[in-house]
Amino acid sequence: MTVVGLDDTDSRERGMCTTYVATAIAERLRHDGASVARPLLVRLNPAVEYKTRGNAALAIHTDCDPGRAVEIGRDRLESLAETGDERTNPGLVVADHAPEAAAIPDDVSRFARAAIRDHLEPADAAALIERRGYRSWHAGDGRGRIGALAAVGARAALEEWTYEYISYRAPERWGTPRDVDHESVFAAAERGYPAVWDTVDRGEGETVCVPHAPGPILHGIRGDDPDAVRAVAEEIESEPVAASQCFVTNQGTDVHLRDGSIAAVEDGRAYRLEGRVAGEPETRRGGHVFVDLEPPVTAADGNGNGDGERSTERLACAAFEPTKRFRDRVRALRVGDRITACGEVSDGTLKLEKFAVRELVRTERVTPTCPDCGRTMESAGRAQGYRCRDCETGTAGKAERPLERDLEVGWYEVPPCARRHIAKPLVRGGFDAPTHVER
Ligand code: ATP
Repeated sequence: MTVVGLDDTDSRERGMCTTYVATAIAERLRHDGASVARPLLVRLNPAVEYKTRGNAALAIHTDCDPGRAVEIGRDRLESLAETGDERTNPGLVVADHAPEAAAIPDDVSRFARAAIRDHLEPADAAALIERRGYRSWHAGDGRGRIGALAAVGARAALEEWTYEYISYRAPERWGTPRDVDHESVFAAAERGYPAVWDTVDRGEGETVCVPHAPGPILHGIRGDDPDAVRAVAEEIESEPVAASQCFVTNQGTDVHLRDGSIAAVEDGRAYRLEGRVAGEPETRRGGHVFVDLEPPVTAADGNGNGDGERSTERLACAAFEPTKRFRDRVRALRVGDRITACGEVSDGTLKLEKFAVRELVRTERVTPTCPDCGRTMESAGRAQGYRCRDCETGTAGKAERPLERDLEVGWYEVPPCARRHIAKPLVRGGFDAPTHVER
């Protein structure tokens, strides 16, 4: 058996898409008499600066002879990849492996995991390709071999898989507005839900499955079940579908997230972090909402109720304008709330993808009112409590009053229109607290 990995074929301006090149390679392999399994669409580290859009890499499992697979792969890459764009650096890696995960060497599997969570160099890929005796081809600076090799190792590196059924446009229509019937997308999405997710954003009235960028994709339907995604795709009324392919993917799995701590985050990685809200949320220019987190107060820090010693470490978390109604959830946080925050850190700021409320502050401390006349008391001087000048009543400190909260314990997420490919929608389940699902 043979695994063909490929990556980096498209350009932001010209459009193309590595899934399309993979579909074309699979078609050519079948034409050649080879059998081809459902291809893998692997999303790598979303923080990688070289990505065109979603940092996707592809792997095709086939019984074609590896030498012949290189010829076919190279031919398709040379004719379809947008190599006119200097940022497009296609790579092809062909391994002679059995299809099972167990046949993939540990170092190749580790490479795949690192490509999803870390940063690698073309030389890392080149060295491992050589060590394993894989065949490869590349153009440009060879960066595409990172994704291509990661795609080869992905089957062994990952445990959780979802599906995407992609329908392609006829080439003569590429770059023109897509003709997809809005109502039929919403109706099909409704019937397929919840096995099929992120097809539409009901809150925004948006057909999330239809891309905006130029390029060959008409729509991509994502979900937990291959038959269900196909059924939804087939119910959508649109311009003619020129080709279609179902991919096995790591989309919607959160596999990019690592457990971390606020004090130790690094740019270019994505985390799941425990924290305590350290300042009131703030809406800045452009509608972006920011909130500071600090490490959670532990019993060792003090009395554990929020009055312990504060850390000087703070991490800004952001819900940017495109996350739409999610920003209201972030604005509803209050100082002292305990949360788990998930997202990628760049420029020292965590871009929130989801968060879990663990503990809400339920009271606020306010200047006391006089029990006799009901008027607000005044400070009696530094550390001397409060008093009512008219009634001569007094108290030792601030009063506590119940705080109305718009949040509940549990997970909140960005809406489908703002979802990153690799981020797990709450509707998929398996979370450690109640979920507040966006759809
Ligand atoms: P496409 O639709 O073409 O796949 P894309 O958004 O996936 O577009 P690419 O054009 O593939 O982006 O560019 C991503 C580049 O970054 C590829 O060359 C890939 O090999 C490389 N890359 C992927 N993951 C990493 C990583 N973890 N570290 C360094 N480089 C990476």
